Amino acid sequence: MLTENELIRYKRQLEVSGWDKSTQEKLKSASVFVAGAGGLGSPVLYYLAAAGVGHIKICDRDKIDLSNLNRQILYNTVDTDNWKAETASAKVSQLNDEIKITYFNSEAGWPLLDEIKECGIIVDCLDNFESRHILNRISLQTGIPMIHAGVSEYYGQMTFLQPGETPCLACFIPEDIKKETKGIVGAMAGIVGSMQAIEVIKFLTDTGDILKNRLLHIDGKLMNITTLTIKRNPDCKVCSK
Ligand SMILES: [Zn+2]
Repeated sequence: MLTENELIRYKRQLEVSGWDKSTQEKLKSASVFVAGAGGLGSPVLYYLAAAGVGHIKICDRDKIDLSNLNRQILYNTVDTDNWKAETASAKVSQLNDEIKITYFNSEAGWPLLDEIKECGIIVDCLDNFESRHILNRISLQTGIPMIHAGVSEYYGQMTFLQPGETPCLACFIPEDIKKETKGIVGAMAGIVGSMQAIEVIKFLTDTGDILKNRLLHIDGKLMNITTLTIKRNPDCKVCSK
């Protein structure tokens, strides 16, 4: 049941065609695991909290550095040297005090397996492929879908990984490939993270066409968005066994 306050808070999305109270209740009863509270995690956490996802779990192993602030819009200058997950939790709680937030000042790995198992979806907002591949294996083992995204410079990519139904991350980015870290225009993380939030909301409310078996690529320099069909790799070392 939605409270009077919730009916007011979510009024403008309850007016979206196809939405009603039951749509909002689906969000309210959902638990989402957000791995990484950085450039992608900032818009993901803000929009999922604003939309009324009932329980959001946040993990990040890092503290806030001044050099994060060009893109990690959850944080202010005074937040530097504080834990990201803890600070993110406090920020989104201020935005929406009707939802539950749990945070972990640790990396998104196997020690959090039991926490992840209680969630309906994993959102990959990480900044390195080593951790992403661990999360991919957790997704495969638990059967919990994962929305993968990455951003670099003016570019971004995203896809929805559903174990057994779509490729896994290692099908198109093998675990042994090393990716170098490049710079990033902060607003690109804003765009791609916001798109991840839309996919989460669509998934939780059974709305629209989920980005399965399609890899979306955004070129912010040309302002082009393309989607490429991707298939499971029958020789994938991670999901073909
Ligand atoms: Zn695979």
